[in-house]
Amino acid sequence: MTIRTAPIQDRGARYGLIIGCLVVLFLLLCGALAIPFLFESFSIKYKFGLAKALLRTGKLAGMAAALLLMVQLILASRLTWLNRLVGMDRLLTLHKANGMLIALLALAHPLLVFGPEEVTSLPLKAAYWPEIVGAGLLMGLFYQAASALFKKALGFPFHLWMRAHQLGGGLVLILLFVHLLFSSETFEVGLPRALGLLFGALCSGVVIHRHLPVLRHLSPWRVEKVAPAGKRATRIHLQPEGKRPFRYLPGQFAFLSFPSSVVSPEEHPFTIASSPTQPNALEFIIGKSGDWTRAMDCVREGEPVFIDGPYGSFSHLVRADDAPLVLIAGGIGITPMLSMIRYMNDTRDNRPVILIWSNRTPDSLFNAEELVRIKRNHPELSVHLLFTGAPEKERLTPETLHAFMGHLQAPQVFVCGPPPMMTAVEAMLREIGVPAQRIHTETFGF
Ligand SMILES: Cc1cc2nc3c(=O)[nH]c(=O)nc-3n(C[C@H](O)[C@H](O)[C@H](O)COP(=O)(O)OP(=O)(O)OC[C@H]3O[C@@H](n4cnc5c(N)ncnc54)[C@H](O)[C@@H]3O)c2cc1C
Repeated sequence: MTIRTAPIQDRGARYGLIIGCLVVLFLLLCGALAIPFLFESFSIKYKFGLAKALLRTGKLAGMAAALLLMVQLILASRLTWLNRLVGMDRLLTLHKANGMLIALLALAHPLLVFGPEEVTSLPLKAAYWPEIVGAGLLMGLFYQAASALFKKALGFPFHLWMRAHQLGGGLVLILLFVHLLFSSETFEVGLPRALGLLFGALCSGVVIHRHLPVLRHLSPWRVEKVAPAGKRATRIHLQPEGKRPFRYLPGQFAFLSFPSSVVSPEEHPFTIASSPTQPNALEFIIGKSGDWTRAMDCVREGEPVFIDGPYGSFSHLVRADDAPLVLIAGGIGITPMLSMIRYMNDTRDNRPVILIWSNRTPDSLFNAEELVRIKRNHPELSVHLLFTGAPEKERLTPETLHAFMGHLQAPQVFVCGPPPMMTAVEAMLREIGVPAQRIHTETFGF
């Protein structure tokens, strides 16, 4: 099946495209860094020696920060081709690292530009308004980086932080654009000004694309059914409004938002638990975590839903081999495994599959009867249920893992669950000799 958002599997093509993107970025960076040399401002022209070198380095830091800010926007924009190439999890990791680099470069910019002038405080005169905008920009960048780094420690609710981060990102770009065009005479006329305006237009284009569902081909779906899934989750079935089939790989996820519901309208990511063999009937199983997911019980049948996706590469179909599979899930981390098992059942893929599903207590289980039914069709599927709460206290150990999967020849292992469990399981897998490149993980959080 051809899937618009499936990761690019051909390694040669993938690495070729990644190298192509890096070359384009390098050339853009060289172009941006050439501007303070090719179009010297008066402030650089009439300085000499160390003062000149420091001022120019400060301008270079500013240019690099400006370009990386545009890259930052692109990394967070869910551009389909980039997600197919790199994967959303890696893009978000790059987004975080790039954010820190931008903050450092942006701090170096005024220190180096004003250092030689021995300016100790910003002169608050109307004539210096572009520099004052620059100071606001620096504060904005630091707020963005610090709030992202410490959001958990500061106890910010995720959805409020996300909204503030998106608005802050937009504001920072506007401030950058104004600062760039008005703070230095380099950008007053000619090619630098044209490039500055092009930069603004490109950023606006990316923001509009990111926030206009029509441009991203998001079509509305309807809630068909809402039902409990065990004691701690809600099952939501969706059907499309139009006829366009929604193609995805088993294990991929999508962002859901309910425009007219009892829940707030921001989007949340969830794995599509159903099988891609039924592209017009999607099922999501949503564990009760915070206010938003707890309110899923109150979603009404028939109400509209927007789906943005699919995204992600946590799928046995992304590994282009027929290796046996070991699927290790903790709690709600079963959803991608369920999709993969359902898909293998529907497509008569009878490879050996071992599912290890750990829960605190039996009342968290759901779809257990379905797994038993699938097992009847798929004799190579073995299911191991573990309960970590009292009285069973069954925890995975390297020995139990080896006993469950030791007989399999070079299996691909997929792990999804709470972060501490994933870290522990990955260490155990390495201990029993599973190579890192055969261990695939999905974290239910960004
Ligand atoms: C790729 C992926 C797949 C997922 N699949 C499932 C699934 O199949 N079933 C399931 O129950 N859960 C899944 N999750 C987790 C689910 O998205 C969060 O539990 C849910 O968004 C929490 O919302 P809340 O406001 O109720 O909880 P809170 O307690 O407010 O949030 C708990 C954590 O969830 C994350 N989160 C909260 N809101 C958002 C948001 N708007 N966007 C992104 N992350 C957010 C944050 O890391 C936050 O710390 C998945 C997450 C990811 C990243």
